[in-house]
Amino acid sequence: MKKKELDTRLIHSHFDRQQHHGSLAHPLYQTSTFVFDNAEQGEARFAGNESGYMYSRLGNPTVTELEKKMADLEEAEEAVAFGSGMAAVSGVLIHLLKSGDHVLVSEGVYGCTYGFLEMVKEKFNIDFDLMQMSSEAAIKERIRPETKVLYVETPINPTMKLVDLKMVIKAAKEEGLRVVVDNTFSSPYLQQPLTLGADFVIHSATKYISGHGDVIAGIAAGPAEDMQTIRMTTQKDIGGVIGPFDAWLLLRGLKTLAVRMDRHCDNARFIFEKLKEEQSVKNIIYPGDKNFAQHHLAKSQMKDFGGLISFEIEGGKKAAQAFMNELSVVQVAVSLGDAESLIQHPSTMTHSVVPEEDRKKMGITDSLVRLSVGLENAEDIWQDIKQALEKAYMKI
Ligand SMILES: *Cc1c(COP(=O)(O)O)cnc(C)c1O
Repeated sequence: MKKKELDTRLIHSHFDRQQHHGSLAHPLYQTSTFVFDNAEQGEARFAGNESGYMYSRLGNPTVTELEKKMADLEEAEEAVAFGSGMAAVSGVLIHLLKSGDHVLVSEGVYGCTYGFLEMVKEKFNIDFDLMQMSSEAAIKERIRPETKVLYVETPINPTMKLVDLKMVIKAAKEEGLRVVVDNTFSSPYLQQPLTLGADFVIHSATKYISGHGDVIAGIAAGPAEDMQTIRMTTQKDIGGVIGPFDAWLLLRGLKTLAVRMDRHCDNARFIFEKLKEEQSVKNIIYPGDKNFAQHHLAKSQMKDFGGLISFEIEGGKKAAQAFMNELSVVQVAVSLGDAESLIQHPSTMTHSVVPEEDRKKMGITDSLVRLSVGLENAEDIWQDIKQALEKAYMKI
């Protein structure tokens, strides 16, 4: 039978309904441990001679269901769920790297990923270089004999710079490196890096996968052999596991991922068109903009342009903050991908730890705000933005 389309697979489940009284929704196994029939069964399970659950840090049926679904959506052999996006990032990288190794990282990666790399550099002698992965030649120039991994985030926050995945994967394969892609901003609905040849995909499931702002969680997906090792090492022994209820919430959120993403993308398109006409708004950064430097790459690599827009408010930090304070539909908060539109000020929030000079180089000025366009009525979002711009300018 032909494999069903992604939007159908998002909704349908793997679990055997007959074993669960025909339950339509996923059963929630909110339990820390599993009772054995007898001591011998416990022995057999721990020895790996009998399959079955033992203890929820080592596996839980609700979590397994989420992992199967995520593997299916990302076209991966296996997936492992974590208690946060950062637990997934660190779990995969610790699995792939050892002391003396080197990793090449796309410039502008998520702040805590950068923090993690700094920490392992200092404590465990795992070196890294940040670089703009703009061409195969540029990448190859930076590859050293110790380089093991290419770590990519695309698009990147908040500048929306893209990395050409096909190009990066080709360069990496020729050098025998493994490619890890943080796919948080796109979700598997807009971009599936493994189908292009990447080895691992990581998600902060906190964002679009959950979609409802009520969970912190992460996913890693990739080859079965690696995922099984990750499960038995960096997940089991470091312990960044997901709770069953959080896994259940993600399973529920995933059912509407396709319709949510379509709406996020449509609303962002609408808001972009309106922002373009505003005098006080400049430097709008949105991959759907025909004048965006990487518009064609976004078009070929992603199914749609996503729900994030960054833009500058004329008047610097004071104007940006005054504008944010006047919003009422749009909420002032970090994170993204929720039903609610969220706005944040990268230079004083998500990127405040980045030295000012580096921020400037990345284009993160004090005037820049980043909007995660939500699922509200697009005109209501726009009216909120418009009145806030007007009020902010009366005040400053
Ligand atoms: C939020 C985020 C993370 C970290 O995820 P948490 O769930 O907050 O731990 C990693 N990468 C990207 C791109 C993110 O946006």
